[in-house]
Amino acid sequence: MERVVVIGGGVGGCAAALAARKAGCQVEIIERMDSVSGLAPWTGQLLTWMVRQEAKLLGGGAADIIDLMESLAIHIMPEFDVPDGRVTFDVTRIEEGMRKLVEGAGIKVRYHSRVVDVEMEGPKMVAALLEGGTKIKGDAFVDATGRTGGVEWCEKLGQGCVQCMLKCTVFGDRVSIAAKAGVPDLEENWNYFPMPYITLESLSSEVRSKIEGTEGGYSYHPIPGELLERDFTNDWHRSDRPVTTRIKGKIPGMLEVIHVPFAKCTLNLPLRWWRQITGFENAWLVQPLSAEGETVGTGFCAQREETMQVKGLANLFAGGLRSGRYSAFVEVMLTGDLAGHNAARQVLGRDLVTYPNSTLIGYFVNVLKSGRTPTDWGGPMLDDPRFKEQGLATTDYRKIRYRMENAGMINAFAKRLS
Ligand SMILES: Cc1cc2nc3c(=O)[nH]c(=O)nc-3n(C[C@H](O)[C@H](O)[C@H](O)COP(=O)(O)OP(=O)(O)OC[C@H]3O[C@@H](n4cnc5c(N)ncnc54)[C@H](O)[C@@H]3O)c2cc1C
Repeated sequence: MERVVVIGGGVGGCAAALAARKAGCQVEIIERMDSVSGLAPWTGQLLTWMVRQEAKLLGGGAADIIDLMESLAIHIMPEFDVPDGRVTFDVTRIEEGMRKLVEGAGIKVRYHSRVVDVEMEGPKMVAALLEGGTKIKGDAFVDATGRTGGVEWCEKLGQGCVQCMLKCTVFGDRVSIAAKAGVPDLEENWNYFPMPYITLESLSSEVRSKIEGTEGGYSYHPIPGELLERDFTNDWHRSDRPVTTRIKGKIPGMLEVIHVPFAKCTLNLPLRWWRQITGFENAWLVQPLSAEGETVGTGFCAQREETMQVKGLANLFAGGLRSGRYSAFVEVMLTGDLAGHNAARQVLGRDLVTYPNSTLIGYFVNVLKSGRTPTDWGGPMLDDPRFKEQGLATTDYRKIRYRMENAGMINAFAKRLS
């Protein structure tokens, strides 16, 4: 059977693997860590409702992962008048769910296996080479190695990806497969502040009952004026790398806390400042390193075609964060879906496909490409003028379904091709 090898087992890689499997290929995921799901356990919110509907209608790997995340929902709240606009899922159960999903689909996952090089025959990739020398052959490959990480880059670009789930010091650095195959990455860097998780037990009983008793997932806690006015730029450990922190939230002066099921806060401060907030005097972070620094959110994207094929290469596709400057899960998974589906198409001798520009995801990944403006932190949102101008911004499910039907995309990734 034709073999698709997906390198990287985050949500992008898992979506690619599921899509290639649905199309009828034998699929293997190679993952350097001892778990799938990549950054997902450190996140928690399913956003961008409009594209989520497109993903479900496509019926590929993204649809399955979205179903899983929704089944793990602990808070569902409206956004733009859509009742389930924001779904907060249980981050402690996402890895288990994704592992069972991919393994249940008959996809082999090779854990603790880091790809460090590739073997090429002209523009064709023939094998991925693992640390230790093992050679993994395939007919087509998907680079879903993400954009974050590599200790050197985290050091160079920020204070280290200190909230990182990728554990580079344990499992070794992330490696760009496309770059190894001879196509230099696009370097796009921006760092951002992780939203730290705090153990509920370390908070006062008043704060805790407010968080636990809240409806819709969010609770609000006053931030002392002194903290609001303070410039934290030089308040971190590394005086040679100043970090500017932001205090943000829907309600000015209030700390926004989401219960997921730890307290996830939209404020990132050194611990000593955290503890000046009433009820947070003993605040303790779930991950020892988190919050004391920043996430190096973006490193490098692969140069790719609209089919997700890496430019100039015959059988290497890029999916997930590797394929562009997105952030939110749905876009990450949908690019994974297309990469996996096209990898399968290629080995099965079918023409490659693209997302039509008449769909939100098509317009987002083909036309806007980078998809990031100061007002667009997560992906296609209803209030984004660029989608309004195109007539793509709607919360009317029938309209979304209609345009997917017109584009021939209903269940397009659910069907077996071989
Ligand atoms: C702090 C934080 C909060 C976020 N919150 C949200 C949120 O609430 N909602 C939302 O929609 N999005 C959120 N995001 C974004 C979202 O989590 C990511 O976009 C998404 O998880 C990226 O998935 P990915 O599969 O492309 O990459 P990754 O998750 O980075 O996965 C890449 C995988 O490749 C593996 N890998 C890398 N190199 C190799 C190699 N050489 N060999 C083998 N394996 C390799 C890595 O170990 C990893 O498992 C957040 C991100 C962060 C960092």
